[in-house]
Formats: sequence, structure tokens, C-alpha cells
Amino acid sequence: MAKESEGVAVGIDLGTTYSCVAVWLEHHNRVEIIHNNQGNKTTPSYVAFTDKQRLIGDAAKNQAAINPTNTVFDAKRMIGRKYNDPNIQKDKLLWPFKVISGVDDQPTIVVQHKGQERRLCAEEVSAMILLKMRNIAEAYLESPVKNAVITTRRAIAGLNVLRIINEPTAAAIAYGLDKRSNCVGERNIFVSDFGGGTFDVSLLTIKDKVFEIKATAGNTHLGGEDFDNRMLNYFMEEFNKKNNLDISGNSRALRRLRNACERAKRVLSYNVDAFIEIDGLFKGIDFCSSITRGRFEELNIDLFRECIDTVNKCVTDANMDKNCVDDVVLVGGSSRIPKLQQLLQEFFNGKDLCRSINPDESVAFGAAVQAALLSEGFKNVPNLVLHDVTPLSLGILTKGDLMSVVIPKNTTIPVKKKQRYSTPGDNHTVIKIDVFEGERARATDNNLLGWFKLSGIPKGPKGQPVMVTFEIDANGILYVTAEDETTGNSNEITISHDTGRMSPKEVARLIQEAKDYEAEDKKFLEKARARKDLDDYIYNMEKDLKDKKKNKGIIARSILKAKRLVTDDEDKHDKEEYEKELKHLQKVFERMMPRLEN
Ligand code: AMP
Repeated sequence: MAKESEGVAVGIDLGTTYSCVAVWLEHHNRVEIIHNNQGNKTTPSYVAFTDKQRLIGDAAKNQAAINPTNTVFDAKRMIGRKYNDPNIQKDKLLWPFKVISGVDDQPTIVVQHKGQERRLCAEEVSAMILLKMRNIAEAYLESPVKNAVITTRRAIAGLNVLRIINEPTAAAIAYGLDKRSNCVGERNIFVSDFGGGTFDVSLLTIKDKVFEIKATAGNTHLGGEDFDNRMLNYFMEEFNKKNNLDISGNSRALRRLRNACERAKRVLSYNVDAFIEIDGLFKGIDFCSSITRGRFEELNIDLFRECIDTVNKCVTDANMDKNCVDDVVLVGGSSRIPKLQQLLQEFFNGKDLCRSINPDESVAFGAAVQAALLSEGFKNVPNLVLHDVTPLSLGILTKGDLMSVVIPKNTTIPVKKKQRYSTPGDNHTVIKIDVFEGERARATDNNLLGWFKLSGIPKGPKGQPVMVTFEIDANGILYVTAEDETTGNSNEITISHDTGRMSPKEVARLIQEAKDYEAEDKKFLEKARARKDLDDYIYNMEKDLKDKKKNKGIIARSILKAKRLVTDDEDKHDKEEYEKELKHLQKVFERMMPRLEN
């Protein structure tokens, strides 16, 4: 075993509530889902701190009720968010551990460890869980594990991340391999991954060994924990009504009730009602109650609808008729909820849902296959090719902080696209190319990937042509080149996965943000256009007058006034002002030009 695993790469599904690790076993021709020392194939994504030690996984979750304030879970829900984010503020009310605003408004977890206060960011907690998953693999393989394909970007010491893979894509690999023998021709597969904290979906086409992702969508803040929270609130109110006591400030009682809610929720996936019984929940008072599946569904119906909106978005983005979807694959623990299954089935016009692959293990399974494919020395690993899509639009910053998209989101890679730009002012011999990813209209609201300068542009009027090329190879590496078309001078930048690119989770968050700010972005775009129209008009007018050597009097004064407006801080003005100024300038120009001509 030890020999076989030398240089082995594992696949790790780092889940919000549970994590799973898998490995490709070359001599056995299959993937093994690795069990932990408790014999479980999934490990709770929990880290606990005590006076004596740090516990991770089952050991941490098992002592959560007696040490609630120092037992951290849900760390993944904090990643990529600020402390002030409304989602964090909402979650915080139900977390028994302390979360405060840290450097740069990062959510910071405060625990007591070995008698001292310790502050941690969510990334640190996730890294601890990742390392635990590596240790589980090492114990099983009896050998060091150095490489991994993971589902979330996390740079951690001692583990080289070969690739970050979207959960649904990893699950699709598991599905594709499972169905290999009876899959003929092209099949369109919809994968829904509904876990503890997130909901991710992908639409793919599988043909022979080629997996082509058509579109992805997701919600980074929607998962099983939200249902637990709704039920928790429901029973807290009930306890309050019955006993006139509020348990929300007592972390131990909260933790015990939350555990009971999660168990009841699971029961409701198989039974029509579930019972809760907790001895001495608060101030020695026992709590016994029940909940029906119908009531549970009522409590969460808006969340279920949100899931279907995300599904619809993905199918629309893929430009595919939903009737062309051959299989709907369900993965993730929360996909067992009957109401969600019913709504999904209705959305796909009654199509049977595929439940044959293990919902808890398939993501790690797919990641393990991908890990083996990216490592050397595996001959038996199924040869498959992943054609991913760009999860976010890619483009450059243009005048007025406008995002100019070169490669739109959901474009299949590899891809190469060219777009012609021009120098924004007279005699610009150097231009800066800022490369961004994201869906916001204002470039700086997106994620800056990198920048470079193109120099040596010959002096001349504004509008000198510059060709910008974006190329993404099969590994997702982005090459951006800018070429001065007059001289042939060029410069370029390479942006790989570890230079600021977003993880699938962060991508989904950015997309959500773009949706939230749609109206604001529209306003910004309209204003930016009005400002640019005025700027262009001034430029052309000045050029015309210079040619005629007649830039005087009322025209000169009007131009000066308009120029002040376009160069002033844009926050001080609105779209209407630019439009009004442009109209005024046009009028002056039309009235005065014939006089100047004569
Ligand atoms: P995952 O991240 O895919 O492991 O999913 C974990 C989430 O699935 C947790 O929120 C669990 O409570 C939830 N879950 C697991 N089993 C069930 C079930 N039978 N019914 C409803 N939710 C479940």
C-alpha cells in the first residue's frame, strides 16, 4: 500500500458541515472513499478548542454541547465575506461561538484555547479541516500525501493544490463513470449539489470521454443549515411561549436544540413527522415537541423556491431547453429533502431524478479521479477530458471605470478572443491594461486579476488602435496580450489559478452580488455613457475648431464649462447633467458654426 501511494494525489470535498476524502487506487482500478478513525466516510467540518487540546472532526462535534463557545463550525460560510455582511450578521445570532470584526472587517472567531484567548479567521479553520482530511488519507495509505484536488481554494502549508474543482463538476465525473457502459451518444446532465451551507448547480454535456460544462450557478448562502436555523427558531418560540423563557442567549441550550433540529430534519426526509425530546434544556425544564413534514416545508418554502430560481438561471445561461436535459443528478446531504426533489422534478416536467450515486461521497470521488489524472504514473485511471466554462466574465477597465468584457461568463474553455481598443487621449504613449473578472458594470467593483503596461505607442491623436487578446488554455490559465497595431509592439500577462483567481464559492458570491446590484449598475452604466458622449463631443468639437483655428468666444466658453463637468469628480454629477450639457453644446455648435464658416 505504501508504495502504491507514493506521490498519490487525493480528492477532498471540503463541505460546510461535512468533509470527505477519496483516492484513486491504481492496482484496484477504482476510487476508494477513505474512512476516518471512527469508521465514518464523512467527517464533520468542526474544530474545537479545550483547555488541553484542539479537536477536529467527530471528536470536536461530539463534545459540542458541553463546550459550545469553543466549538467552531460553519467556517466556510464566512469565507469571502465581511463581518458586516447581512448574512454573517444573521448567522451570528445562532452561532454559539463568538465572532467579531477583525482586520479589514474580516469575520474573526474568538475562542479560549489552553487558557488563552485565540483569534482565528475562517480560512485558518478551513485549513485545519483540510489538514485533518489529509491526515485521514495518510493514515489509511500509510504514506505522506502531498497533492490534492479540492473543492475550495485554500493555500495551506504541506498540501499542493493541483486544481480547484466545482462540486457539481466533480459529482458529474462520478456520475459519468458510473453510467459509462450505458451512456451512448451525447447526454445533457444537470447536477444539483445541495449541501450544508451552499447550493451549487451545473449543466454539462457528456460525450464519450469529454465532459463539457455548459453553465454553472449557485448560492453560497443556502443549505441544510438554513433549514436547521428555521426549525431552531420555530422551537425556540415554542419553548418561549410554553415557559416564558428565552433560550437564545444560552449557547449550550442552543447547541442541544440545534442538534435535535438537525436530527428531526433528517427524519422528516423519510417520515411525515419527527419528535424532539431534550431533558433539562434550559433552567432544568425538559422540552418535548414534534413537527410534521408539512410544517417543515411551510417554514422553508421561500428557500426551496430560491433553489429553483438558481436552477432556472443555470438552464437559461446554458441556452438549453430544459426538456433537453437527459438526467437530473442529485448530490449533497440536503438533496434528500422530499420537497426539494418534488420541486426539481416539477421544474424538469416530471423527469425521474437520478439518485444512484452516493450524495455524500460523489464530490470527493470525482475530485480523486481528477487528482489521479493530473498526477503522473496512473495508467488505469479513466481517461476523461473536462471542458470547463469561465464562471465569471473577464475583461479590462476602460475610461470611466467601465468594465469592458472580452470573454463573457459561461464561455467554454479553451478559448481565445480579440477585441480592439483605442488610446483614450491624445499623445498617450503608454497605456495600462487592468484585467478584471466579474459581472459588475464598474470595473473596480470586480476582482482585479492583474495589470500591465503597453509602452512605446507613437504620439498621435486619441484613438490609436490597440488589439487586446484574451486566451484561456485547458488548465484555466489566462494569457492577456495587448498589441499596438501601429508598431506591432506588444506586452502580456499570465494569470494562473493562484494569482488572485476566485474559488467556485467566491465566484458564486460575486455573481450573487452582481444580481443584488443590478439596478445600481444600470444607473452607473447610463451615467458613464452620458459622460463619455459629452467627452467625445468636446474632443471632436475642439479638433474641428483647431483645424479651423476658430476656437473663440462663446464656443470656447461653452467648451470650457463642459470640460469642467467631465473632468470633475463624477460622484458630484448625474446622468441628466451630462445630457443637458451635451444638448447645450450641440446647440451652441450648430448655431455658431455657420457664422464661423463664413
Ligand atoms: P453535505 O455538505 O453534502 O455533507 O450535506 C450536509 C447537509 O445535509 C447537512 O445540513 C445535513 O443536515 C443535511 N442532510 C444529511 N442527511 C439529510 C437528510 N436525510 N435529510 C435532510 N438533510 C440531510
